[in-house]
Amino acid sequence: MKEKTFEKELPEEYREAFHLDARNLKFGLIFNAIALFITIIVMVIAFVLLALGDASITFGPNLLGAYIVLMVSMIAYIVLHELVHGIAYKSLTGEKLTFGMSWSCAFCGVPNIYTYRRTALISLTAPLIVFSVIFIATAAVLYFVSPVYYLIVSFLFGLHLGGCSGDIYVTILFLTKFKDKSTLMKDTGPEQFFYVKE
Ligand SMILES: [Zn+2]
Repeated sequence: MKEKTFEKELPEEYREAFHLDARNLKFGLIFNAIALFITIIVMVIAFVLLALGDASITFGPNLLGAYIVLMVSMIAYIVLHELVHGIAYKSLTGEKLTFGMSWSCAFCGVPNIYTYRRTALISLTAPLIVFSVIFIATAAVLYFVSPVYYLIVSFLFGLHLGGCSGDIYVTILFLTKFKDKSTLMKDTGPEQFFYVKE
């Protein structure tokens, strides 16, 4: 029999074990601070790598163009990141999705069901893996072509990695606290509820 990816109703023997809310002030501030820190670290590494090469940064007359590319890419990235979560959830469950934004982050959830650990982990890590590969590969090519665009993509990678800090945190919870494959998660978007068998 094919493994179930979710439950419509919470089975009786389950109890709530943990709850996260991205709209919580403390949680939102901590994760945005972590995101900023990660972005700074990535940019320091990007500049060091650039300094180690012999490329010279020339901010020519195309700086405005580069700025527009950065802004458009940032907005597109936020939308695509949530879309990749959604594609993973949708293809695994076929259930209704929810998308939105809170003061602390953009989100995608599958609010009406309880997903099994494996389903949740695939959806959580999909954007992290997909966009890390895309940004690192693009930055590696641009390193030799255009230092300015290399730095822009590095910055996008930093924002991406930092922006994934919430996803990474929930992933770590699954890898440490909730290792049992019977663990269920209800993901409303901004909130995640963990349920374990009693
Ligand atoms: Zn995410």
